[in-house]
Amino acid sequence: VDAATAIDACVRPVEDWPVQGVTFRDVTPLLAAPDAFGAVTAALADAVRELRPDAVVGVEARGFIFGAPLALELGVGFVPVRKEGKLPADTHRATYALEYGEATVEIHTDALAPGARVVVVDDVLATGGTLRAAAELVQTCGAQVVGNAVVLEIGALAGRERLADVPLVSLRRY
Ligand code: 5GP
Repeated sequence: VDAATAIDACVRPVEDWPVQGVTFRDVTPLLAAPDAFGAVTAALADAVRELRPDAVVGVEARGFIFGAPLALELGVGFVPVRKEGKLPADTHRATYALEYGEATVEIHTDALAPGARVVVVDDVLATGGTLRAAAELVQTCGAQVVGNAVVLEIGALAGRERLADVPLVSLRRY
């Protein structure tokens, strides 16, 4: 199966969720279809391999679902960026703006080796705020983001422009 075709077939648009006027892209049907999920994981791996990552960082929660099989496929470690208060050992924190209010994410201070080449993964790129916060955490660890990878991007929100300092892999644009 071709990844873009799988995404078109299996990512469900949900109108007016979480608020009126927003079309939420629901990836759960894709996760439930092993051919489609496998095609997406393989396509992400093929696209980021040339960036020679030493680690994959996944952003809670859906970045875990795509990031873990991606890391295994690449033969590198998986590192979680979590919402505040979830990681048990020493952490670095980054706070970023949401449409209403703000959010804080964390990474373990010893999660990445200094100089490590990191690909950051999430399911959907919207404004880019989440991936920017993850990049800040990676840099605070002394590692470097060599690319971002998402299953799909919401083109109208221009997140791509906020992440223009490194390559962006996106399998589909809506
Ligand atoms: P951003 O920070 O780029 O504005 O928003 C991206 C974050 O919000 C990602 O962690 C993503 O999981 C979530 N998100 C925003 N819009 C959608 C959407 O339409 N579908 C899904 N699955 N996640 C979304």
